[in-house]
Amino acid sequence: MNILLVYAHPEPRSLNGALRDFAVQRLEAAGHQVRVSDLYAMGWKATLDADDHLDYRPDNPFSPSGDSRQAFANGRQSADIAGEQDKLRWADGLILQFPLWWFSMPAILKGWVDRVYAYGFAYGVGEHSDKRWGSRYGEGNLAGKRAMLMVTTGGWDSHYSARGINGPMDDLLFPIQHGILHYPGFEVLPPFLVYRTSRMDDSRFAALGEELGQRLDNFWQTPPIAYRRQNAGDYEIPALTLRPDLAPQQHGFAAHIERD
Ligand SMILES: Cc1cc2nc3c(=O)[nH]c(=O)nc-3n(C[C@H](O)[C@H](O)[C@H](O)COP(=O)(O)OP(=O)(O)OC[C@H]3O[C@@H](n4cnc5c(N)ncnc54)[C@H](O)[C@@H]3O)c2cc1C
Repeated sequence: MNILLVYAHPEPRSLNGALRDFAVQRLEAAGHQVRVSDLYAMGWKATLDADDHLDYRPDNPFSPSGDSRQAFANGRQSADIAGEQDKLRWADGLILQFPLWWFSMPAILKGWVDRVYAYGFAYGVGEHSDKRWGSRYGEGNLAGKRAMLMVTTGGWDSHYSARGINGPMDDLLFPIQHGILHYPGFEVLPPFLVYRTSRMDDSRFAALGEELGQRLDNFWQTPPIAYRRQNAGDYEIPALTLRPDLAPQQHGFAAHIERD
């Protein structure tokens, strides 16, 4: 299988760098093809702007989504964006790897999403009608592929627990897992999380390698998070609210995950 690992850490000799090297070796040893987009090493441009579109003319106001749509449809996107889209088409699996920075992904990775996820590629896909609201949330151009986050945090496990001060990790990652990964079609695997990174030593790193190795070995068998499908009857269209008879006691992020 083909795996794209998008890596967002400025220092290769970091914990993240060691985990990345471990992951690449493990996947290749299992016979997978791996490509790494090392965003800092690539000098990835993080800001979406008019320079992303080869046909942009300054006499017209720049429209972030309108110009993206034109450029994508006409093959007039900047080469770095088109190259990352090609890698996503090639990949059967995607791993986004990053340290948690201010409760989210580093800006360089958010900029990868903003720019690579063009109109017509990751959003604005499919029919919008009374029955369907586009091909998204499990449908779309990236459907049939799997994705997983690899995230390290300074905070402790308990700080991110159900009653932890930082908020539950599932909630913090919801906009990335559901909004960025499931939206364009990915099946999303539970994340690989490393908490309390300042307490790392050789023995903990070895144990971490065992755990990560298992997760990578089972990448194709692990059940994905059971996000509900937008167009499969659970949501009222066009309001896009969950039907009142489904999980009536659930609100917020958790309502969008099917429970047995
Ligand atoms: C801007 C910013 C915002 C942040 N926001 C948050 C936040 O919102 N929430 C939060 O919880 N944290 C936050 N942090 C902390 C951040 O998430 C952690 O610092 C980060 O996840 C650590 O990963 P690293 O790869 O940089 O680790 P490193 O600093 O490289 O390493 C961590 C430890 O692992 C050891 N180590 C490295 N490689 C190995 C190896 N191969 N074998 C054994 N030990 C090794 C190092 O010696 C070190 O002790 C923030 C940090 C920054 C800079």
